[in-house]
Amino acid sequence: MPTVFNWQINREMEYPYEAALPERQFSAVFDLNKCIGCQTCTFSCKGGWTSGRGQEYMFWNNVETKPYGFYPMAWDARLLDMLGPQTWDGDTYTGKTIFEAAPPGRAALGFLPDEEDWAYPNIGEDEPNGIVSDGAYLQIPHPVWHFYLPRICNHCQFPACLAACPRKAIYKRPEDGIVLVDQQRCRGYRECMRACPYKKIMYNPVTRVSEKCIGCFPRVENGQQTLCVANCIGRIRMNGWIHTPDTADPENPVDFLVHVRKVALPLYPQFGLQMNIYYIPPVHVPPRYLRQMLGPGVERAIETYRQVHDDPDLLGVLVLSGATDRWINKFLVRDGQAIGFDESGAEIVRVPLKEPAFIRAFHDAERGVFRHNIT
Ligand code: SF4
Ligand code: SF4
Repeated sequence: MPTVFNWQINREMEYPYEAALPERQFSAVFDLNKCIGCQTCTFSCKGGWTSGRGQEYMFWNNVETKPYGFYPMAWDARLLDMLGPQTWDGDTYTGKTIFEAAPPGRAALGFLPDEEDWAYPNIGEDEPNGIVSDGAYLQIPHPVWHFYLPRICNHCQFPACLAACPRKAIYKRPEDGIVLVDQQRCRGYRECMRACPYKKIMYNPVTRVSEKCIGCFPRVENGQQTLCVANCIGRIRMNGWIHTPDTADPENPVDFLVHVRKVALPLYPQFGLQMNIYYIPPVHVPPRYLRQMLGPGVERAIETYRQVHDDPDLLGVLVLSGATDRWINKFLVRDGQAIGFDESGAEIVRVPLKEPAFIRAFHDAERGVFRHNIT
C-alpha cells in the first residue's frame, strides 16, 4: 500500500492511493463556543438538498449534543472502541489510523450502522454529562457541561469512503477538493458507509444509491459560502480554502485560524483522513474529554482563544465569521475594523471589532417618554 504524509498526525501513513493534492481545498471552521443548537443549518441544508423521496432521515448537516448525542447512533463511540489505544507523542500520533487497522480484505476499519441507528437524529439533545449536585453551579470550571457539535462531510484529503468503494464511484474534485458520488456508477453496496468514520455518507432506499454532502458546489463555484454556513444563526461558521502548514497564507482566514493561531482543530485526527472541517474547542468543557476528540492541541487552542481580547487579528477573523455569504479569500484588520476580500481582491465585507453602543437618556424630555436600554 502507498504511504502518504498526513500533517494532522504529523507522520506518513498507509492509504490505498498515492497522495494527489487538489489545486485548492474546500474547508470550514466552526466555533463550538458559539453554537446554540438551533438546527437552522440542518434545515437550510435539508430544504436545499435532501427533501426528496428516500431522504426523510437523511441529514447531510446535523447538530448533536455531546457527550450523549449521536447521528447515527454511537457513530464515534463505537469506532473509538474498535480502534483501540490512540496514543500521541507530542504532535505525532503513534497509534493506528483506520487504514492501518483495516481487517484483511477491507480498505478501512469500520462498521455498517443498522437502519434504525439513523432514526433518532437528535437523540441526547441538551443532555448534560451528569447530574447537577448542590452548589455545583458555583464552581469553575463547570463540572456539568454539554456542547453542540455541528457536522457535515469533511471532504477529507484521504477519504475512507473513496478508498472503500469497489465501483470507484467516489471522486475528489481537483478544482476544490469536494468529494462527490457518481450516481451512475454507484450500485449501493454501502462499503463507503461502512468505511467513513464520520458516517457522513448515507443510503437512499428509494434510489438505491449512496448520497452525501456535495459541499454546495454550485454555490462555491459562484463565490458563495455553503447553505449551512450562510444561514448559521450563531455566526459560528466560516468557509475558506485551506493549505498545508508549510504553504499557509496568514492573510487567509482559515489558514490563520488553523495554522497560524492554531485555535481550530480537526475532529478525531487519529482516524487518519486529514479532514477539512475544523473546530474551535468549547472552553467550558474539560480538556481531557476534548483531547480524544480534537487531538493534542486542545489546551493550547483554548488558551489562545481565551486571550482573544488582546489579539485584534484573531478577533477580526472571528467577527468576520457569518458577516457575509460571500467566500472570504483574504482578511485584514485596520483601524478597529476587520475587512474581508474576495478572490479578485475586492472588498466584500467590513465589520467593527467592537460593536458601537448607544446609551439613551432614561427620560426623553423632548418626546415626553421614559426609555429602557436593553442589550
Ligand atoms: S467525511 Fe466521510 S463521506 Fe466525507 S469525504 Fe470523509 S470519508 Fe468521505
Ligand atoms: S445554525 Fe449555527 S448556531 Fe444554529 S445549530 Fe447550526 S451551527 Fe449551531
